[in-house]
Amino acid sequence: MAFRGKLFFFTYQSITMMAHNDCVFCKIVHGEIPAQKVYEDDDVLAFLDINPVAPIHVLLIPKKHIASLANVTETDAALLGKMMALVPKLAEIQKADKGFRLIVNAGSIGNQEVQHLHFHIISGPEPLGRMLAN
Ligand code: 5GP
Ligand code: ZN
Repeated sequence: MAFRGKLFFFTYQSITMMAHNDCVFCKIVHGEIPAQKVYEDDDVLAFLDINPVAPIHVLLIPKKHIASLANVTETDAALLGKMMALVPKLAEIQKADKGFRLIVNAGSIGNQEVQHLHFHIISGPEPLGRMLAN
């Protein structure tokens, strides 16, 4: 019985790992690819976007793999609240003292490219343009 339990554990683990093997943000969390980190704790990681759209462009992610905002459930509410509360602190760390924009792309209509939930925190010094390009 114990053997069967262990077998199930390994099977479950390998399925979970397989699902996230190709996730670039999971690789950053696990130190497999580098990133310029600006904040880290047990639950979340913030780092500079590799292709910034403005002088300040930070990505805030949960360390746990959640594919998209479209996939969150009530069990993620505390984590999402923590992330949201961190946004102004990260803006302050980045010296975005005159304001910022928070963007979360989700799904194909939202043009989400990386399938690991992330908040974009974007700021100037100059005022940002219109919210959507067109
Ligand atoms: P999305 O379009 O999914 O909302 O945004 C994905 C963001 O992740 C893009 O702004 C892109 O520049 C950034 N990004 C993609 N790969 C990497 C990477 O390997 N390192 C970092 N720091 N940012 C990345
Ligand atoms: Zn991931």
